[in-house]
Amino acid sequence: MNSNIIRLVLGDQLNLSHSWYSSVDSSYTYLLIESMGEATYAPHHIQKVAGIFSAMRQFAKELKSRGHKVEYSRITQTKESDISDSIVSACVKNNAAKVEFQEPDELRLRRILEKVEQKGIEISFCNTEHFISNQEEFAATFKGKKTYLMETFYRKLRKKTGILMEGDQPYGGKWNYDAENRKKLPKNHLLPPPFLVSTDVSEVVDDIKKAKVPTIGQLKDPKYFYWPTNPQQAWDIFDQWVEAGFPRFGDYQDAMTVKDWALYHSRISFALNTKMISPLEVCQKAEQAFRDREDIPVNAAEGFIRQILGWREFMRGVYWERMPEFGDENYFGHSRELPEWFWTGKTKMKCQSQAISQSLQHGYAHHIQRLMVTGNFLLLAGIDPDQVDLWYLGIYIDAFEWVEITNTRGMSQFADGGWIATKPYVASANYMKKMGDYCDHCVYNPKTKTDEDSCPLNSLYWDFFDRNRHLLGNNFRLGMVYRTYDKMSGEQKEAIRAKAARLLKHINDL
Ligand code: FAD
Repeated sequence: MNSNIIRLVLGDQLNLSHSWYSSVDSSYTYLLIESMGEATYAPHHIQKVAGIFSAMRQFAKELKSRGHKVEYSRITQTKESDISDSIVSACVKNNAAKVEFQEPDELRLRRILEKVEQKGIEISFCNTEHFISNQEEFAATFKGKKTYLMETFYRKLRKKTGILMEGDQPYGGKWNYDAENRKKLPKNHLLPPPFLVSTDVSEVVDDIKKAKVPTIGQLKDPKYFYWPTNPQQAWDIFDQWVEAGFPRFGDYQDAMTVKDWALYHSRISFALNTKMISPLEVCQKAEQAFRDREDIPVNAAEGFIRQILGWREFMRGVYWERMPEFGDENYFGHSRELPEWFWTGKTKMKCQSQAISQSLQHGYAHHIQRLMVTGNFLLLAGIDPDQVDLWYLGIYIDAFEWVEITNTRGMSQFADGGWIATKPYVASANYMKKMGDYCDHCVYNPKTKTDEDSCPLNSLYWDFFDRNRHLLGNNFRLGMVYRTYDKMSGEQKEAIRAKAARLLKHINDL
């Protein structure tokens, strides 16, 4: 009987504060594998693969320096494609009869890891010690309910953590200041340039190329990789953002502009999702800054904290509650192919080209670009949600299925029929004009619906509601939309249908 135990550390489990590392014990070997299967289950952005591998390498180095036994397999050394086979090989090599896992965040991966047991190896799962809530809390909150309301769960977690609370009441007397977070950027507004860190990931990129990992997107200079690859860099980005971006986060949270790719967003999702930093600590630091300083308004503080304590925890709860069925949902029966320009950014629609090009360039778009620009177009155009998911899962540096699919298939595509969102997030060019400056740089006319140069969003918007009346007509939040549509003449409606049909037929030429 041997007592060697392998502890697997996945690329999104880089939590140095986990209790696994609180004491050094030579019977444990910490195993980190750069796996071909994990790098290719979706067409991933080069920055995502390089960022994760670089962060894993630094994490392994840090564990070693603390005296832990570590085994590391680089992508050029990993022989097996499936990570479960690599784990079994490591068990044989290390004479280990047991593997301990931290619970993976994805069902896909859980199933892969469970295969190790079929090889006669004992396995066990423990908590990642990262999230603020647990599944029992989520299930208890929504037991017997037909929809999930983020706000309900969020308030529960505010009370549980005491964040932004005064006794048992919300700070300032209100739970939610979202209505104050919808300003357009003033015309000559100067945005602070995004604070960037720097890591040389040339060696990692060489390995990715040598191993022939297929990737998408661009990485301009691997010597100056600007996403955080260790906790220090992640906190540096966060601290800089607290200093310069936090005060205006609330006001301009939904704003869009051609002038910049990050605006007042924090860009910490990659660090959070790989668990380099703790969500609770982020919320506590944000609250402390708000309480210490006079220039951070409550709509910024509450708005930011709600994204993490509210939306992020909530989406994780929905994921585990509704998977695997959630992954197949397609409420509208959409089946159209993803337009080719989603892989190049080459479209005449400025809003789309801006959001897609910057995603290819940085592996990043801010929330409102994902929801109201690309997500909006994909829903209006009736694109197959499987293809939509695959695109979002691959292109964003922060995309991991639990938080990608819930946002994409649920919040953005309404493919779940309304478990997450109470109505589809769709908009015509009116919204684009109201919230940003894209239309000022676009060849299409945002004001008309059926002319040759009319913005495609306008006819697609009304056509979406027309063709889905049987599914949406009774939605209490859409009464106004249908009343407006019903006031249009039969001729107008026919022109809209015909225009939308022409656009969709030539979708690759938009
Ligand atoms: P900020 O705007 O500064 O917000 C701070 C933090 O709040 C984020 O880092 C993130 O951790 C959290 N947050 C904000 N909104 C959400 C949300 N809706 N759900 C969960 N957490 C949220 N987020 C991901 O982390 N991974 C994804 O794959 C992902 N895919 C998305 C797909 C679509 C279609 C949409 C509409 C949203 C998606 N989001 C995803 C949520 C959100 O867009 C990103 O978290 C955010 O843009 C990350 O940038 P940031 O760190 O600058 O965020």
